[in-house]
Amino acid sequence: MLVILAKERALAASTKTVLITLHVLVDLPAEADGVNSDLLHEVSIQLEDAVGQIDSPFTPKWSGTEVAVLDPSTMNCGRCKGCGCWASDRDKPEFLGGLNVGAVVDGDLLCDECLPLDHPRAF
Ligand SMILES: [Zn+2]
Repeated sequence: MLVILAKERALAASTKTVLITLHVLVDLPAEADGVNSDLLHEVSIQLEDAVGQIDSPFTPKWSGTEVAVLDPSTMNCGRCKGCGCWASDRDKPEFLGGLNVGAVVDGDLLCDECLPLDHPRAF
């Protein structure tokens, strides 16, 4: 037991824990009050399981899941007018960092890859 504790302490002293945030977009059937919670739960469980399948000596472990149903009428997000990807306007409050960087040009939200090349947010 002491040997195991000593190994765990040595490991803890020689590693740093990294929180990797992964954003996944899923199109689920819409319902009157949001999305089908059973389907959402099923997808969440599969994502958690997928983390456990990662082949790495550093044993990644699932830590938590945060879900947001995207709503362009109340959130800083929308579909890019150019390519249709989800983007968030980097120049407006409450930027959603999990989406593509975007900006509004002539009233249209464009992602950083569809913005005019001379736009400061163009990629
Ligand atoms: Zn685009």
